[in-house]
Amino acid sequence: MVPHDPIVVAGAGVGGLTAALALARHGLPVEVYERRTADEIRDAPGSGLTLWSNAATPLGRLGLGDRLLAAAERVVEIRNFDSRGRIRFTMRTHPYIWPDALPSLSIGRMDLAAILLSACAQRGVPVHHGRRVTGYRQTGDGVEVRLNDGTVTGSALIGADGVRSTVLRQLRGDVPGTYLGRTTYRGVCAGTDGLVPEVPLLFHDEATRVGGGVYPIGGDRAAWTLSWKAPAGEREQPGREHAHAVRLARVLPAVLRDRVARTDPDALIRTDIWYHEWHETWGDGRVTLLGDAAHAMPNDLGQGACQAVEDAVVLADALAAGDLATPTGVAAALRDYERRRLDRVKWVRQQSVQVATAAEPRGAVARWAMGKLTRAYLAVAEKGMWRRMQQPPELTHPAPVGS
Ligand SMILES: Cc1cc2nc3c(=O)[nH]c(=O)nc-3n(C[C@H](O)[C@H](O)[C@H](O)COP(=O)(O)OP(=O)(O)OC[C@H]3O[C@@H](n4cnc5c(N)ncnc54)[C@H](O)[C@@H]3O)c2cc1C
Repeated sequence: MVPHDPIVVAGAGVGGLTAALALARHGLPVEVYERRTADEIRDAPGSGLTLWSNAATPLGRLGLGDRLLAAAERVVEIRNFDSRGRIRFTMRTHPYIWPDALPSLSIGRMDLAAILLSACAQRGVPVHHGRRVTGYRQTGDGVEVRLNDGTVTGSALIGADGVRSTVLRQLRGDVPGTYLGRTTYRGVCAGTDGLVPEVPLLFHDEATRVGGGVYPIGGDRAAWTLSWKAPAGEREQPGREHAHAVRLARVLPAVLRDRVARTDPDALIRTDIWYHEWHETWGDGRVTLLGDAAHAMPNDLGQGACQAVEDAVVLADALAAGDLATPTGVAAALRDYERRRLDRVKWVRQQSVQVATAAEPRGAVARWAMGKLTRAYLAVAEKGMWRRMQQPPELTHPAPVGS
């Protein structure tokens, strides 16, 4: 049964907007509250994102397939090089997508946000910008959600408010993040010259430990990332970030180095990589978490947003199957969602942490031996790993086609 009060979603990131769209397709009332203003979102610098098939497919099932395919670039394999442009290994990913699945896609985050926002608007989902969730109180028959400018009552509260989630903090107390020891610059640049269609290129310079990646994201543009070891919170003087990024990229091949130099200096994003220790308490009563708020993970496998999408569609599936008009029905549906997600997210997170924290051997010979072992391991393991990674979530109550 449909609840009287809307389901309140905190955060209009990939996870929050996907959840709102999936809930609306089930005919459930939902409203999204996002702390950033519409102008802040519009003017934010661009970056790229890989939506592996496990996330592209459920988004396709929400009716977004054609729009995603038109806006994005397919991904069929990843090539990994040293800083002199010599290939270290290739990972084929496309052969391991599931039957009837959409391909893996690289897309501009701004394009994905625009697609999700317009789909929410078409379904009449209110997305309130510039309104920050500051806390909540559970009552006998709902949740009072406190905002920077008032209070709203919901039948449930979904904390999709990212790695520094306010909802998580109230639910579990102050959860310290773990800093990976690595920070990043990201940017988007016009032109795909020198790139291989459908193939992200990754580079690593062993001497400086600067890494990077560059990949087409559709619309004759490419996204790039630089990453290196640095203390958390370290920043360049304002106005000097671009020169810093150009200096770091000097050790990497021209296909990446030149793009960093060509990128608008005002359009760089600097992000330190934080993640959460694993925990299995995602909710209480009528409150739950999804995406980074529940399980922020290192970005090495590009699965953070993908897991947020998986969470979102399973959450909507569980709520659609629940009896949301009874006091216990909402809580039972939310616990069902959490139970269905734990094993899957735990495994994906483990893979990401493993890759991100693998000890780098000291010395050229040890590194050479490790490289050989890695290649041998990938040759055997890639099929199983990529097959499992790209498995789309199974739903028990898919929304009817065309709904
Ligand atoms: C360098 C880098 C590269 C990455 N590459 C990939 C990739 O290729 N593929 C992939 O799947 N993942 C990737 N990720 C991870 C991905 O970015 C995150 O996992 C994903 O954005 C999480 O989505 P989310 O919706 O849970 O949270 P977010 O995207 O963080 O969205 C949270 C939203 O909540 C809003 N918000 C925060 N607090 C409040 C509040 N109190 N009230 C209201 N609104 C609030 C925020 O403004 C934001 O809009 C990468 C991450 C990094 C750092």
